Amino acid sequence: MQQFDALIIGFGKAGKTVAAGLAKKGWKVALVEKDEEMYGGTCINIACIPTKALVHDGLHGKPYQEAIERKNAVVEKLRGKNYASLAGLDEVTVFHATARFLSDKEVEIDRDGTKETVKAKHIFINTGAESIIPPIKGDVNAENVYTSTTLMETKELPERLAVVGAGPIGLEFASMYASFGSEVTLISPDDALLPDEDEEIASEVQKEMEAAGISFEFSVKAERIEKRENGSVRLSLSDGGQVTADAVLLATGRKPNTEGLGLENTGVQMDDHGAIKVNANLETAVEGIYALGDVKGGPQFTYISLDDSRIVMDALFKDGKRTRDSRSNVPYSIFIDPPLARVGLTARQAEAQGFAIMEGSLEIVAHPKAHVIDDLRGLFKAVVDKKTGHILGASLFGPSSPELINLIKMAMDLDVTYTFLRDQIYNHPVMTEAFNTLFDIEK
Ligand SMILES: Cc1cc2nc3c(=O)[nH]c(=O)nc-3n(C[C@H](O)[C@H](O)[C@H](O)COP(=O)(O)OP(=O)(O)OC[C@H]3O[C@@H](n4cnc5c(N)ncnc54)[C@H](O)[C@@H]3O)c2cc1C
Repeated sequence: MQQFDALIIGFGKAGKTVAAGLAKKGWKVALVEKDEEMYGGTCINIACIPTKALVHDGLHGKPYQEAIERKNAVVEKLRGKNYASLAGLDEVTVFHATARFLSDKEVEIDRDGTKETVKAKHIFINTGAESIIPPIKGDVNAENVYTSTTLMETKELPERLAVVGAGPIGLEFASMYASFGSEVTLISPDDALLPDEDEEIASEVQKEMEAAGISFEFSVKAERIEKRENGSVRLSLSDGGQVTADAVLLATGRKPNTEGLGLENTGVQMDDHGAIKVNANLETAVEGIYALGDVKGGPQFTYISLDDSRIVMDALFKDGKRTRDSRSNVPYSIFIDPPLARVGLTARQAEAQGFAIMEGSLEIVAHPKAHVIDDLRGLFKAVVDKKTGHILGASLFGPSSPELINLIKMAMDLDVTYTFLRDQIYNHPVMTEAFNTLFDIEK
């Protein structure tokens, strides 16, 4: 039996960051990853990086096959760098194996049937999440029915793509495949696009996606998939309608990856969604076992995983004051065309919470930089507390919004009033100067 100071299950964003941090402290670390193609985790191999490389190439006119090849090269390079950065450390042993708990302190690692037991005082679960396959009848396992992972492995662009699910992944893939030239139909159970976003922004998003050739089927569920003789598939919808496509993407969410982890042999507890229950410092019900990243539930973002690693390092080596509850104003972006970014509350949400508000609004067509880059699409909106002048939230649909949103997040964290962003001297012509106008609202 091998003994380590720390055992990390999953070479994901949180796991690899904790491994490097513990190694710096001189801890003897075992890092177990079941899939050699996943060194570095979901983000660099099958999620953020490959999708955004494809989004970029689609918008720059690269043919699909070439874009897939470039994406593969980028992923391979990053995977190699990630592996080397940890495997090259004396303190870290990387095991290519599947981990399964035998007890609170012992984990079996299985390398193609060769099993050994590893013991560690501290164990970190970072096993991520996996695509949910919805309960659709018929040929749901047909070769042209994909998840986000497998669709990006195809070398041929589907002529017609049906996307089931209109969350961030469904929207990004719809936009991306439309940019390569697929005819895309998006199927959503909601009665409108982006129900949690500002209504005016959501309708702008729909307008631009429709202008890109994407069709929408709202208030329906895909109920049956039928493979047809000519290789295409037919989706039957709950309202009796049908969509015929050459490929189907199932984008109906991702669930915590706990299956086969042997948690039943431990005191670790899970919630009703299969997420591992943790306290504010990310420790599970068992002392010394932590859960980080997607597997613990909550927002599924790489930067949340990174922050989880900081929380755990703080708990182990500092005062433990950095917690899950101290995270504030977490922004997010959806990389459609143009991109959408959001932080804090929409006007409707702020009013529902009892705030008296002021709203700033800027159509991108009125912004000089938009004319420089010849992209006049989009709308920026901001919500301000009338009483204090503090920014409550912003929804930015337009060029560079995933970068700009971080500035608004910082202003919110610093508790400055909206006039701080309004009165800044920004250089020119850039998108940031949009804040001079967006926040030009009278108190
Ligand atoms: C298509 C897509 C696009 C996305 N785009 C973005 C984006 O633009 N920005 C963003 O911030 N987030 C994005 N996300 C979300 C982001 O990728 C995840 O939130 C993040 O990667 C989760 O990281 P993690 O730390 O939980 O672990 P992960 O990176 O998921 O790593 C978990 C690892 O554990 C391994 N593992 C699982 N079980 C075992 C076991 N029993 N034994 C050994 N190893 C095991 C897995 O193989 C995997 O490598 C996207 C997700 C998807 C699917």
